[in-house]
Amino acid sequence: MFEKVLVANRGEIALRILRACREMGIQTVAVHSTADEDAMHVRLADESICIGPPAAKDSYLNIQAILTAATISNSEAIHPGYGFLSENADFAGMVVEHGFTFIGPSPEHIRLMGDKITAKDAVAKAGIPVVPGSDGPVKDEKEALKVADTIGYPVLIKAAAGGGGRGMKVANTAEELPNAIRMASAEAESAFGNGEVYLEKYLDHPRHIEIQILADMHGNVVHLGERDCSLQRRHQKILEEAPSPALNHNQRDEIGRIACAAIKKIGYHNVGTIEFLYEDGNFYFIEMNTRLQVEHPVTEMICGLDLVREMIRVSAGTPLGYTQDDIKFSGHAIECRINAENPETFAPRPGRVGDYHAPGGLGVRVDSALYSGYKVPPHYDSLISKLIVHGSNRNECLMRLRRALGEYVIDEMETTIPLHQRLIANPDFVNGDYDIHWLEKFVNKE
Ligand code: ADP
Repeated sequence: MFEKVLVANRGEIALRILRACREMGIQTVAVHSTADEDAMHVRLADESICIGPPAAKDSYLNIQAILTAATISNSEAIHPGYGFLSENADFAGMVVEHGFTFIGPSPEHIRLMGDKITAKDAVAKAGIPVVPGSDGPVKDEKEALKVADTIGYPVLIKAAAGGGGRGMKVANTAEELPNAIRMASAEAESAFGNGEVYLEKYLDHPRHIEIQILADMHGNVVHLGERDCSLQRRHQKILEEAPSPALNHNQRDEIGRIACAAIKKIGYHNVGTIEFLYEDGNFYFIEMNTRLQVEHPVTEMICGLDLVREMIRVSAGTPLGYTQDDIKFSGHAIECRINAENPETFAPRPGRVGDYHAPGGLGVRVDSALYSGYKVPPHYDSLISKLIVHGSNRNECLMRLRRALGEYVIDEMETTIPLHQRLIANPDFVNGDYDIHWLEKFVNKE
C-alpha cells in the first residue's frame, strides 16, 4: 500500500479523500492556492504545499506545480478527486511518467471515454445500448439531414468534446437543423477547441440513471447499483438518490450485468460511472465518467463500501477480494447538493460563514469543508456542503431528510437549502414521479 498520497483537489472532496487515507494509515499531502490558505483540507492534511494564485488555471489545474509538489513531498500516488484534472488524460499520463501512481483509470481509458464519439462507439461494441443517432461525427448539413430523417425529429446535436451541457442544441424540424448545427459547433469550438458534433434522437421524458462500477486490475468487476440523478438544472445535478424510484430488482440486475460485461471487455479498471437516459423501460448510454463522482456517497450509504478506499486499493494493484454476490443493497439514500447561491436566481454568493452547525444524528452524513468564520472564495464552484441521508426505505429517508435540512445553521450565507426544502415537500417528488425536465419546470413555476 502507498505510504503517502497527494490530494490534487480542494473543498469537501479533498476532505473525503484525506479521511479515507487516514483510516488506511496513509500519510497525506494537501495542495492549495493562495485563496485557500485557511481551507479545511489544508488543516486536516499531514502536509500542505501552496501551488499558485487563486485562479484554478494557475493552481489546481497547474500540472507542473502539482507534479513538483508530489516530488518534493515524496508522495507515491495522486488522487485527483472530481472536476479539475480528474478527467485529463494528459495529466494522468504525466503522473505515471513521473513515477507516481494515478488513483483512477489508465490514461488510455480516460482518453477513450473523454471523447463522446469514441466512447459511444466503444461501449456499443461492448454490448451497451446507446441512443440512436449518427455513426460518429456529422461532416456536413446534408449528412445531418439524412441521419435526422432516419431517426426522426426532434434530434439533439451534441459536441464530441462536450461537458456541462455545452455544445448541445435541439432541432425540432429539418428547417431548424442547419442553424442548430452551426450554433452547437461554434459553441463547442469556443468551449473545447473542437467543433466536432454528432446527432442523437432527442428523448422527451427520460430519467437520468447511472450505474456505478468498480473494477480491479485482475479482471474482477462489480456494479454497485444505480443512482437516479434526474433532478437537474441546466444539466447540473441538484439532488440524487439510490436506488432509483423507477427501477425494480430485475431491471437493476440486468443493466448491471450488461455494464459489468462491457467494462470487462473494454479492460477498464478503477471506479467509473456509466450514465444512461432511461425512458419507457429502455436504457440509452449517454456518457461514461472515469472518476469519482460528487454523488458517490448515496451509493456508499446503500452498499456499505468506502469508494475512495476501494479506488486506492485497486490503484495499488490489490484485487477486489469480493464478487457481485457479496454486494448487498440496504435501504435508501438521498443527497442534497447545498450551494452558496441565491436559492431563486442561482447566482453565486461567496462570502464569510457566520455561525455554523451541521445536521447530525442517525443516518445523517454531511460532507463539507465549512466551518464558522470560513470565507467561501469566489474563484471555484459554489458547492459548500453535501447532505446525505440514509433510511431503511424511501419514506424514512424523506422524513429524515426533512428533519436534517431543518437543522442546518449556515449564518450570513445564502444557500440552496430552501430550494431543497420546497422540493422534498412536492407531491411529484415524494412519489418519485419526475424526469430530467421536471426540476426546470418546478423552479420556473415558483
Ligand atoms: P454533458 O457531458 O455535457 O453533461 P451528457 O451527454 O451527459 O452531456 O448530457 C447531459 C444531459 O443532457 C443529460 O443528463 C440529459 O439531461 C440531457 N441529454 C443528453 N442526451 C440527451 C438525449 N439524447 N435526449 C434528451 N436529453 C439528453
